[in-house]
Amino acid sequence: MTRRHFDKRFAELVAQIPEDEYDVGKLFELFRTYSASVAPDYGIEYIYIQMLAPGPDHSSMQQSLASDIYRSGYPGECDEKMYHFSIGNGGYADVYVGVRKGVVWTPEQQQDITTFIKTQYLFNGRVEAMRQLDRVMFTDQITHVLNQAGLYKSMGAKMASGGLAGYCSNFINIRNMKLFNEKYTEQGGNALLMGFAQRIARYIGDDGAFARLGGDNFLALIESSREEALISFLGNLWVDLTDRSGSTTKVKMEVRAGYYHAGPGDQVSDVMNNASIALQFARRDVNEPIKEFHNNMKTQFFRIKQLEENVPAALGREEFVVYYQPKADISDREHFVLCGAEALVRWMQDGNLIPPMQFIPALEKNGLVAQLDFYVLEHVCRNIKAWKEAGLQPVPVSVNFSRRHLKNENIVENIMAVVNRYGIEPSLLEIEITESYDIDDMDVLSRFERKMHEYGIKVAVDDFGSGFSSIRLIKNIVTDTIKLDKSIVDGIGEDREDDIIISHIIHMVRALGKEVLAEGVEKTEQADFLRENDCNTIQGYLYAKPMPREAFEESLKNRS
Ligand code: C2E
Ligand code: CA
Ligand code: CA
Repeated sequence: MTRRHFDKRFAELVAQIPEDEYDVGKLFELFRTYSASVAPDYGIEYIYIQMLAPGPDHSSMQQSLASDIYRSGYPGECDEKMYHFSIGNGGYADVYVGVRKGVVWTPEQQQDITTFIKTQYLFNGRVEAMRQLDRVMFTDQITHVLNQAGLYKSMGAKMASGGLAGYCSNFINIRNMKLFNEKYTEQGGNALLMGFAQRIARYIGDDGAFARLGGDNFLALIESSREEALISFLGNLWVDLTDRSGSTTKVKMEVRAGYYHAGPGDQVSDVMNNASIALQFARRDVNEPIKEFHNNMKTQFFRIKQLEENVPAALGREEFVVYYQPKADISDREHFVLCGAEALVRWMQDGNLIPPMQFIPALEKNGLVAQLDFYVLEHVCRNIKAWKEAGLQPVPVSVNFSRRHLKNENIVENIMAVVNRYGIEPSLLEIEITESYDIDDMDVLSRFERKMHEYGIKVAVDDFGSGFSSIRLIKNIVTDTIKLDKSIVDGIGEDREDDIIISHIIHMVRALGKEVLAEGVEKTEQADFLRENDCNTIQGYLYAKPMPREAFEESLKNRS
């Protein structure tokens, strides 16, 4: 037998394994077969291999493998030879070969054996290289959990052994990652991602899978029975962040997630997509940041996708309807008085009313929201004109404008073109713009507001108090009205400290000469508190819900 012969035989065996099925266990199995076919020619009765590799901390050696490669079962005595190889990663392999007593190798055989053992060494090197390749190909470099390729590999293995039923997939997104990066620098942000990912990966363990898909998006696969526990785990997740000086801050990681319990026959793509669709809905619902997938989400999701492609047509078909939510003056406790309204859009699809939060964020992303806002403005102007012509006395109506258009050069002129076309008095209109904590935006807003003022149209800051730097920015706000967000109003009467803060906000705003309106007022006690604190305008279910145009006209009639 020659050296070439060994190499060839081994190469043939390795070639039998398809490239994508290389795994350490399989290769060892193969190697056993190979060894068993070689050993008897040389009087070898057993081969035992022991491999040691540096541990994760690089200081101590750990046994990574110890096993019989071959054992003939021969009961007699053997001479044992030991071959020592370095594997190249700081680890080594010791191969123990038992040769039947009395067997003497010719110099040629001796050479053959060395070659044979060397193949073991080469083979082990190859396995190790594969492991390292695995690490690079299937591991995310920032968090050291699986990457997308790794996730597909792991899910593929689960598909091959019984499918994904019984697992629950979670599409997880970190809230405020952008702010973390700004606050802690990119390096700190990466450390947070790492801490976050490691904690969840450890929680999930080996039965499931956890991967970073890119940015601050992750996918977790866990046994369905553990899903509820995972949700509460995600709801209270803190990560330690250590800075260069060694001091540690605890950072609360808030997530939004969509999850899906896989059923029989589900493919990898179902499990990924359904969780991702549920996340889209979770992103838009502050009250329920972790949402389970339902089939009707899919229908809606595709409708919204279609809509995105088709907004002009949907606008043309007048599928959007404008609702009006009355605003009330509550100075008189016994008698609330209609004093304005907000125009709120709904999308009418096959007889269903779809609420704005389910399609506006998508339209904001691609800039189509501008068309929608102008559509609403147009309808409001048309309605006000009609009310006047019918002899009714309209109240001022506010129209929502997405912040996105404020940067548009001609925004004010475009608004005024609509207003003038219908001959609407500017005092009957107000524009609502959502609060932002971005200072750059404040500049844009202040320019917008100044120009609108020249034309006599008021501007309100919407959702005040929902972003976290608002209090600091109160003095920078240039608008006429501040709409206190529902989340602030909800706190009234719940907590004494909250009450003090709310009353301060109201008084500060009033001291700056601005109007305050409280949104989402649902309880009499809230209205009483607001009145006592000099906030006399409200909008909320306590007074009225948003209603179709016809119903709102009735309120206008009762007023006149
Ligand atoms: P928003 O401007 O903050 O509008 C107030 C939302 O709170 C409305 O939801 C309203 O129905 C709801 N609401 C009012 N009072 C109460 C209450 O007492 N309790 C509760 N639970 N909710 C109350 P809606 O109509 O679903 O609108 C959601 C958001 O969609 C609006 O929030 C606004 O940001 C956006 N939106 C609506 N119409 C338009 C539009 O024409 N253009 C743009 N850009 N955004 C719009
Ligand atoms: Ca609004
Ligand atoms: Ca609001």
